Amino acid sequence: MTTACGGCGSTLEPVLSLGDQPLANALLTTEMLDEPEPSFPLTLAVCPTCGLVQIMEAVPPELLFREYAYFSSVSDAFVEHARAIAMRMTAACRLTDLSLVIEVASNDGYLLQHYAARGIPVLGIDPARNIAAVATARGIPTLAEFFDPVLADELSGSGRAADVVHANNVIAHVPDLDGFVAGIARVLKPTGVAVIETPYVRDLVERLEFDTIYHEHRYYHSLTALSRMLERQGLVVAGVERLAVHGGSLRIFAVHRERPVSDIADVPAASGPAMLADEAALGLGSPGYYLDFAARVTALGSELQRLLAGLKSEGRSVAAYGAAAKGTVLLNAFRIGPETIDFVADRSPYKQGRYMPGVRIPIVPTERLIEAMPDACLLLAWNFAAEILAQQHEYRERGGRFIIPIPTPELV
Ligand SMILES: [Zn+2]
Repeated sequence: MTTACGGCGSTLEPVLSLGDQPLANALLTTEMLDEPEPSFPLTLAVCPTCGLVQIMEAVPPELLFREYAYFSSVSDAFVEHARAIAMRMTAACRLTDLSLVIEVASNDGYLLQHYAARGIPVLGIDPARNIAAVATARGIPTLAEFFDPVLADELSGSGRAADVVHANNVIAHVPDLDGFVAGIARVLKPTGVAVIETPYVRDLVERLEFDTIYHEHRYYHSLTALSRMLERQGLVVAGVERLAVHGGSLRIFAVHRERPVSDIADVPAASGPAMLADEAALGLGSPGYYLDFAARVTALGSELQRLLAGLKSEGRSVAAYGAAAKGTVLLNAFRIGPETIDFVADRSPYKQGRYMPGVRIPIVPTERLIEAMPDACLLLAWNFAAEILAQQHEYRERGGRFIIPIPTPELV
């Protein structure tokens, strides 16, 4: 466990303990039930100096990302999201065949392909060798390396400084966050623009999305903390917008301090100061805001446990739906196990036949809901509530009821 802020090194203030948690995505096979299962404390903390929210446990990356094989292009929505920002940046920065766009954590080239299609030179950087090879084969040159200040200097020194640097959904994960931001500053041309997307901690707090806190997600960003981090590396926020993706995200446009600040891609230069003022009014940079969140999470847990205990005392049967990481977090945080939940239904054949980490509840095909007709079904994948309720109309028509746990447990 670390007590030093991953951004500025100050002593962290813990705000919420989610207990000992297994790795949220490490579903168990039947054979693994006989083996000890690694678990690690999961504690959310805030830095009272720079306001950066983070978890205090650094799980070794080789444990966390051993099965990492996410191909961004699989999702149509992601590709369209990427196309739109590429078009905007191409126009805003007047990119040509003499420009260079770099994406850090470029995955399979889902974003850079939209620049390449317009003849704009691109370079991807992604440490996953298999994914980098796929991207390169698709015509998106990709370095299979970790991004740090040394690599950034090598690129700049060899004439490959960037007009635009993208970093999407990566600054929540990187172990050396300060070094990562320093690398962006060093690889960016004096006139360049960095575009950084990351989940927004304010959305997490306001919607009580505590179950998106797990070991893979080291940092939970506010503009307050991020702008301080950028400033330490000579960058400033030139604009910011809020996005609906990933439960609510920030998209930050950052430039070198010396560059004249102007509106970028139709995002007003005044948007940064406006959001910083909002965050200051709400207290996003100080522990009190997160202590209040922690109290709401604890109250939610008590209410959910009371609801489930009530159902069990009436002799009712209960199942759950959705074997996603957030389900692991919720079940283990509130110690809801096989004594309460008979099974977890999930559509993924890869997950069926396995067990939820920690609580060890079996995962079964969704057809089991109709066969077994549990009286209630705890919806762990509450972020897809509308879609799942529509799919499971037969279960509901026969009298089954879903429990939507967040933000307040509710039987529907
Ligand atoms: Zn700090």
